[in-house]
Amino acid sequence: MIMNRHQNDWYPSNISGGQVFPYMDHAVDAAYYFMRDNTSVVDSSNTNGRLLHPFDISGIRSDFPILQRRVNGKPLIWLDNGATTQKPQCVIDALREYYQEYNSNVHRGAHTLSKEATDAYECARRKVQMFLGASAIEEIIFVRGATEAINLVAQTYGSTNIRNGDEILLTMMEHHSNIVPWQMLQKEKGAVMKVIPINGRGEIMLDEYEKLLSSRTRVVAITHVSNVLGTINPIRKMIDMAHRYGARVLIDGAQAAPHLKVNVQDLDADFYVFSGHKAYGPTGIGVLYGKKGLLEQMPPWQKGGGMIKNVTFDGTTYNNLPDKFEAGTGSIADAVGLRAAIDYMQKVGMDRIEHYERSLTGYAMQALSMIPGVNIIGTAPDKISAISFVVDGVSPETVATRLDREGIAVRIGHHCAQPVLQRFNIKSTIRASLAMYNIREEIDMLANTLYKITKDY
Ligand code: PMP
Repeated sequence: MIMNRHQNDWYPSNISGGQVFPYMDHAVDAAYYFMRDNTSVVDSSNTNGRLLHPFDISGIRSDFPILQRRVNGKPLIWLDNGATTQKPQCVIDALREYYQEYNSNVHRGAHTLSKEATDAYECARRKVQMFLGASAIEEIIFVRGATEAINLVAQTYGSTNIRNGDEILLTMMEHHSNIVPWQMLQKEKGAVMKVIPINGRGEIMLDEYEKLLSSRTRVVAITHVSNVLGTINPIRKMIDMAHRYGARVLIDGAQAAPHLKVNVQDLDADFYVFSGHKAYGPTGIGVLYGKKGLLEQMPPWQKGGGMIKNVTFDGTTYNNLPDKFEAGTGSIADAVGLRAAIDYMQKVGMDRIEHYERSLTGYAMQALSMIPGVNIIGTAPDKISAISFVVDGVSPETVATRLDREGIAVRIGHHCAQPVLQRFNIKSTIRASLAMYNIREEIDMLANTLYKITKDY
């Protein structure tokens, strides 16, 4: 079932029935780069009444040079943040400085540059530890991204702990990266895969989840935030429920880490993964967090330099954490870039980012839900960033092409999450996904253009 415009939750209370589309006449000009006063954020809900400083949106936007670009003669409106985010100047500078001033391999050379690069790499690891609230630096493994992290866990923890008849639970809304590695393991081991259903709003059905859990459940793999529906899943509760049955839980935080404050100890997550490039950092770097006790028991994954203590032709002993899981030369510059990205997010404040983006997501939901012929898929009240929709009688390709002509970048397709689209009987959606630098005027432009598209077909 596709949820349509009947979701009253998203209707603005001050818009009367007659005043259907109040933002249609906005002139879009240079002024659109600056936020109106009412978009400053004073948080009263998420921080126990503590007053936050206003969210300096024009300052934030000016930190992202690419936002000055024009596309097809129009200012770029980047609404494809679920695929990858743009980078602030400090991340670009960190990469340039690394290559210009201290490029070197880490943990090896007996010289100044290697020491500097090693310090920077390990500082980045420390930064990630603080960002995720992990209890020890050894719990942070650098990988290429969320996909690689999940493969690592499935092929090490999974292959040593899953046996014939054991059960792996996944939700209906997982990204293929959190399905395929488990499916391959399941087939290899003769295990059973069970799927936690979702309701018509795109929320996990917790009572069904409870019924699926049993003493045979070994692993539960859940996305923190859906990349299609934007739903924020109740992972704290779901982790608790899984632990009661002795199962381990992997949280896919690819769409959460840039938007929500995460604390892996509060969550009691066994594994938590995310990708740097979706969190304002470079591509090629991502993070696997794992509880130390679990990582210590797991066999190494890739084998080679860096992950060994001693090698003879008779045998090899493996290095301590985290090196045991970091064979070969890592993405050193990208780790340094990720550190700069985390610094940036923390400077803005994760609680402020979350509050601002929740409000912007609500605004976009309202705007899109008011356009006749636009059907939103994923209407959970607790959602952030991703808004998927289809337009009656117009293909996603046509919609995306028309939007691109206006400089608006969205994503179309199955978003690497085909099962959740099958749940809603569709093959493809248009997805607008928001980040901290997006503004209401951009949403207005999106809605305005969509409205025109629906009129033209
Ligand atoms: N999980 C989710 C929820 C995602 O949205 C994505 C990226 N679209 C991934 C995993 C995979 O991330 P990456 O391609 O960076 O490994």
